[in-house]
Amino acid sequence: MSDSTWFTEQHEHSGSSIGFRVKQKLHSEKTPFQTIEIYDTTDWGKLMVIDGCMMVSSRDNFLYHEMMSHPALFTHARAKRVVIIGGGDCGTLREVLRHDEVEKAVQVEIDERVTRLAEKYFPELCEANDDPRAELLFIDGIKYMAECEPESLDLIIVDSTDPVGPAEGLFNAAFYTSCYKALRHGGILVQQSESPLVHLDLIKSMRVAMKSAGFQSAKTLNFPQPCYPTGWWSCTMVRKGADLAGFRERGAASKQFPTRYYNVDMHRAALAMPEFVREALGE
Ligand code: SAM
Repeated sequence: MSDSTWFTEQHEHSGSSIGFRVKQKLHSEKTPFQTIEIYDTTDWGKLMVIDGCMMVSSRDNFLYHEMMSHPALFTHARAKRVVIIGGGDCGTLREVLRHDEVEKAVQVEIDERVTRLAEKYFPELCEANDDPRAELLFIDGIKYMAECEPESLDLIIVDSTDPVGPAEGLFNAAFYTSCYKALRHGGILVQQSESPLVHLDLIKSMRVAMKSAGFQSAKTLNFPQPCYPTGWWSCTMVRKGADLAGFRERGAASKQFPTRYYNVDMHRAALAMPEFVREALGE
């Protein structure tokens, strides 16, 4: 719902809403995949909305992008080949490419218009797009993973929209089986897994589907994200052929690049499980 001064996203599922005060709508278009809107807000910078759901604001996207990338990259011993599924705003790609050990990062976004609008309205998120290690593809991530060379990847980051529309098939066992095959031994899959407060059933079913695809231990990491439903978000990480105990704390403590949210303490904190989540996930 929007009026002239507020963009408000209503969440039927949780009976709640989140709103940002806006100065003006800057852009709106219907692509073959979805409707994309861009707003200029009074306090949160630019805001990208897809099919009525807030995707990225200038002010708080660092929380999500840093937590979708650095915990996985500091868990893997040396991730050389990375694939990002979705993530068309390019913020996750930028964070991944801060790691010198990454030799190649492919962003597989179904909708080229998301990236073209990010280049125009969120240029800071796209500043690594010209990095020679980056490749931007505009195809369906489900098909890309199904056809991916076996045992060729170290890390897959699924930075997708909610599990409806084009992203629905990114949350099932068939997709996770493709990811499992494409990963090398010790490879990691990390996927945005919505809000633990209202989407625990989804997190549970993702973990069951990931396990059925062959993945062993799973960790769900918590972090704040004001522009997403409830303001509390998560990502779920699984690994091929190895468990997920610990991370490279010394490497994270001596990282040679700036972050605004991620550090060793926040990484440890993100791994802590609230009691109701622990119970629901049987941990
Ligand atoms: N951070 C956001 C969130 O959690 O709501 C996600 C942002 S990112 C813009 C999500 C992207 O996933 C969108 O640009 C969308 O086009 C893309 N996407 C959805 N389904 C996809 C698919 N099957 N293959 C590749 N990209 C897909």
